[in-house]
Amino acid sequence: MLQPLQDETYMRLALQMAQSAQGQTGVNPVVGCVLVKDGRIVGMGAHLRRGEGHAEVLALQMAGAEAAGATAYVTLEPCSHYGRTPPCSDRLIRSGVRRVVVASVDPNPLVAGSGIARLKCSGVRVDAGLLAEEANAMNEAFNKFIVTRLPFVTMKNASTLDGKIAARTGDSKWITGAPARELVHTMRHRHAAIMVGIGTVLADDPELTTRLAVPALHPLRVVVDSQLRTPLSARVLPAGQDEGSTLILTTAGAPASRREALEAQGAKVLTCGSGPHVDLPLAMRLLGEMEVPSVLLEGGGRLSGAMLENRLVDKAVLFFAPKWIGGGAQAPDNVSFGGFGRMSEAIRLAGMTVQTVGDDVCLTGYPQYAEEEASSCLPE
Ligand SMILES: [Zn+2]
Repeated sequence: MLQPLQDETYMRLALQMAQSAQGQTGVNPVVGCVLVKDGRIVGMGAHLRRGEGHAEVLALQMAGAEAAGATAYVTLEPCSHYGRTPPCSDRLIRSGVRRVVVASVDPNPLVAGSGIARLKCSGVRVDAGLLAEEANAMNEAFNKFIVTRLPFVTMKNASTLDGKIAARTGDSKWITGAPARELVHTMRHRHAAIMVGIGTVLADDPELTTRLAVPALHPLRVVVDSQLRTPLSARVLPAGQDEGSTLILTTAGAPASRREALEAQGAKVLTCGSGPHVDLPLAMRLLGEMEVPSVLLEGGGRLSGAMLENRLVDKAVLFFAPKWIGGGAQAPDNVSFGGFGRMSEAIRLAGMTVQTVGDDVCLTGYPQYAEEEASSCLPE
């Protein structure tokens, strides 16, 4: 469909470029920039990797002298502080850009409006907020991490209509169809870490890698294992070169000999509390200190339940296959925890979207914990 060339068209293009770099910018946000002069695109850029050029700088380089008098469409407020690179707001001013259209204002306390203020002070016209919702959603992990230094946790599971993640025999291959499983690999690629409980390691022996052919971007694999029961032959342990690519979170009470054996396999073992269970809030703080901005929580039901109970889940992506497997208590549930006595205490999902993926349904939303209405985790 033919669309008029207007602000929204160019911002959508900038958003698309930003989106394409998701999963490869580490603790940095994804950002796209399009420079337009006299109805013609003269420069484009996207931030592709931490330590490399910012979107605005790349677009300005492409535009050269044509940047003078142009309009810049940027998905995130241009930076104003000296980090690894000089501030983009200064670069835009020096290049003679006349107008800057910004989608989302930077939540980074070091920036937060100061980039826009800097531009305005120099006589650059700034329009902020265009397609801000889309831009914020794209950086929802970064937006939380930069303010709280805690990872944004997405809980993902795949279950039958009766909420089972395996049959009573333990068989779980497969619950959902191939299209849903493909989507999970894309999700893994877009997270800095994948986390599972020891039950999942013992039952499924998952490798927890992404099948996408981007070896440099394999997420950190995290196992919550209070007693260090992870078998030395587990596929989740590092193979050959990727030493340190697996992190095991345990308790002070775990056997020291097991710790040594797992470390000898190349795993990193971290103590989170004195037990009997891994202190999950502490675990999230430690992951934050390790600059892990996002975690994909892949179960099983007990770990997912404990994370929910501790209010540590920011987003849920739930696949439901159109089938029933039954099996009562012998068949594991997608989420399992002690539970509340009253329906009013239930954890609700807000901001829900529903999508069909092949024969399956994917439900996405943001948990709202009781007495915490209008949680800050909702995209604005
Ligand atoms: Zn910048």
